[in-house]
Amino acid sequence: MEHHLRTNRSEEMINITSIIENEIRNTGVMNGIVTIFVPHTTAGITINENADPDVIHDILFGLSKIVHKYPEFKHFEGNSHAHIKASLMGSSCNVIIEDGRLKLGTWQGVYFCEFDGPRNRKIYVKLIEG
Ligand code: ZN
Repeated sequence: MEHHLRTNRSEEMINITSIIENEIRNTGVMNGIVTIFVPHTTAGITINENADPDVIHDILFGLSKIVHKYPEFKHFEGNSHAHIKASLMGSSCNVIIEDGRLKLGTWQGVYFCEFDGPRNRKIYVKLIEG
């Protein structure tokens, strides 16, 4: 399955947990594994806290402190910081499906990470029943 997402800022983390759970519900798969894959080089995916939105703010702030926009970067697009952050987050994650729901921790959510927006983005979702 392919899901389309419009991001609104240069950098943001969007909770896509309910999108994934809706897709699982539509397939009727009750138990298995879901892979969520982001086919982009300046966006990533991660699992982190869904309760306090300040955590998401602090992750983006912390990444900006780790990855600077160095003038020595050579990439012609000028967005190497976004490529590096995308690699730090990774481009896919796997979650167990149990009783038709994602088997996440109480405080966990699945986040699409935009590092070079706003853009139209895609998410690939693949379910393996078992
Ligand atoms: Zn680039």
